[in-house]
Amino acid sequence: MVKQRIIALVDCDSFFVSCEQKRNPSLKGKPVCVISNSQGCVISRSKEAKAMGIKMGEPLFIAQKDHPLGIYIVADHEYYSNVSAQVMAVLKDFSPYVQIYSVDEAFVDFTGLKRLYKMNYARLAMFLRNKILNELDIPVSVGVSLSKTLAKFASEKAKKSDSGIFLIGKRKIHRVLNYASIEDIWGIGSRLSKRLKSSGVLTAGELIEKSDSWLDKQIGIHGIELKHELSGELVSAVVNSEEVPKSIQNSRAFGIFTNNINYIKNELNRHIHTSCRKLRSYNTKCSQVGVMLRTKDFRVFFEKKLLLSPSDFELEISKVAIDLLEDIYDSSVLYRAVGIVLDRIGEQGTQQLSLYEDDEITRKKEKLTKCFDGLEKRFGKNVIKTGFHNKS
Ligand SMILES: [Mg+2]
Repeated sequence: MVKQRIIALVDCDSFFVSCEQKRNPSLKGKPVCVISNSQGCVISRSKEAKAMGIKMGEPLFIAQKDHPLGIYIVADHEYYSNVSAQVMAVLKDFSPYVQIYSVDEAFVDFTGLKRLYKMNYARLAMFLRNKILNELDIPVSVGVSLSKTLAKFASEKAKKSDSGIFLIGKRKIHRVLNYASIEDIWGIGSRLSKRLKSSGVLTAGELIEKSDSWLDKQIGIHGIELKHELSGELVSAVVNSEEVPKSIQNSRAFGIFTNNINYIKNELNRHIHTSCRKLRSYNTKCSQVGVMLRTKDFRVFFEKKLLLSPSDFELEISKVAIDLLEDIYDSSVLYRAVGIVLDRIGEQGTQQLSLYEDDEITRKKEKLTKCFDGLEKRFGKNVIKTGFHNKS
């Protein structure tokens, strides 16, 4: 467990709309919606558009019919990521620890900044909010608390407050959580919240009263972490986004020349294990898997595949990688090396939807990976090897 820290979540308000209003200030105070260029649905709304009754995800033709006074703009994601980079630059200027969570959200470690800026945390949050508004013309909400999960919850509260900031200090935690519906907690998906409710857990306050073994049974290992985070103990630290590599690769020459497929598979699995361990150490997942085979005469064969959902799990990645290997392998050729490339690391997507996934498989997977990492911490690296099923 990490020593107590102060974590802020900075979240841009109606980000895409705010970007359009920054570019064209005459749109301020108007019912503006940004429309996705792929599906033609509403993906961002100004306060005025919300008040008019335009719904998130509504198809353009319906919104236009029901709300002809709305202003509908097609998304310009290149511009939005430009503005996003500017916002993140202000944050990085402010604190040495900034973890970009999505295009419009970042965790900022406030610990120690009180002394540096000679302001209390509420004033710090306000200062940061005003700085982004004045310098970039982008409104943000800032939630401040003792863990990421609490900061995320605080930012939702901040969004609804006039000041745009909300703090949950140690003494306020219980009071706030007793009024927090379980489904409003970051990462608790609808299926999990339904199940928790049916076992009588309706609020976050009730969740943290549960025993570790109960939470482990209901949610899995993440359930216990969630309890700690909600109790104000930081489980997941703010990791600087730059430190997370874009790609992780592992390969090594065999030291012999071989066409023995089982030998090559074993070597590949060893590299996959090393790579997954590294991935997990950054608290992230990859979305693309690549396999490289180098022949005796230095020709290189490479094949890659996108994963259905991001993964940091050996057995999942191995399944895809072994298939790729079999695609590029030729039994009449001698090889000198095999390698794995994990790409598209930390890309947003499904990962964000539910941190505490509630299906059985995910829970088992997590138990197993924790077990891998735990064993290796005790007994040294590479005590574990992932096997493979021989198809023949
Ligand atoms: Mg936002």
